[in-house]
Amino acid sequence: MWGWLRRLGRSARAHRGIPDALWQTTLGNYPFLAACSPAELQRLRELSALFLAEKEFHGAQGLAITDAMAVAIAAQACLPVLHFGPGRQPLDWYDDFVGIVVHPDEVLAQREVMDEDGVVHHYDEVLAGEAMQGGPVMLSWQDVAAASSESGYNVVIHEFVHKLDLRDGQPDGCPPLGAGFLGAASARQAREHWLTTLQASFEDFHEQVIKAERFGAPPPWLDPYGAEAIDEFFAVTSEAYFVNRPQFARDFTALVPLFDAFYRPGA
Ligand SMILES: [Zn+2]
Repeated sequence: MWGWLRRLGRSARAHRGIPDALWQTTLGNYPFLAACSPAELQRLRELSALFLAEKEFHGAQGLAITDAMAVAIAAQACLPVLHFGPGRQPLDWYDDFVGIVVHPDEVLAQREVMDEDGVVHHYDEVLAGEAMQGGPVMLSWQDVAAASSESGYNVVIHEFVHKLDLRDGQPDGCPPLGAGFLGAASARQAREHWLTTLQASFEDFHEQVIKAERFGAPPPWLDPYGAEAIDEFFAVTSEAYFVNRPQFARDFTALVPLFDAFYRPGA
């Protein structure tokens, strides 16, 4: 149950910070966090406390949210925005929502699509998480706990990167970028450069997935789900960038300067 989080008011949570034992447990459970420098870890801890003061967690289907669960989600959600300015400034990127809904397990969502003849088809989609513009983030705890550096899988980073992508309205695989991004003369040029680079990597990855599925070629390292659409590719490759940089750099060499410039501006 909520212990530390429930006892303290919002501002006290941000002010006193995350208790040491709780923080050490989080670092132990998510070893990729240990790849951060001591200064980055200190900043991550501080930013995670601010995140916990601003966001509200809801357990679905009777799931009780523990302090450890909330801190684990906060730390991973803050990792992509860690270098986005001082104080609470990075959290501006997440200010379109307050709620984080955690389900014990994957969620079956009923979907419908209309085909070109106007016929509506119904189908079920299994979700490990979901992010929509202006809406809460949904996560399956079983999937949060299954985060793995080896497979590059991390559902928290995945969903929060969708939030970064959606910041300018469109789930198009391109977050808002300013003029000056990798020397771009304008925001538009920055966007063009981002999309051209990402699209080329996406097409390569898509081809690898097809070759593996149809012709028995070795499967790519990352989740083939990344081949579904360019916004999913951005989210899936970002997971890998944060949890297993060496393997990411081997598989997606062209994305390294792009992601470094976005996630580590000024570094
Ligand atoms: Zn996704």
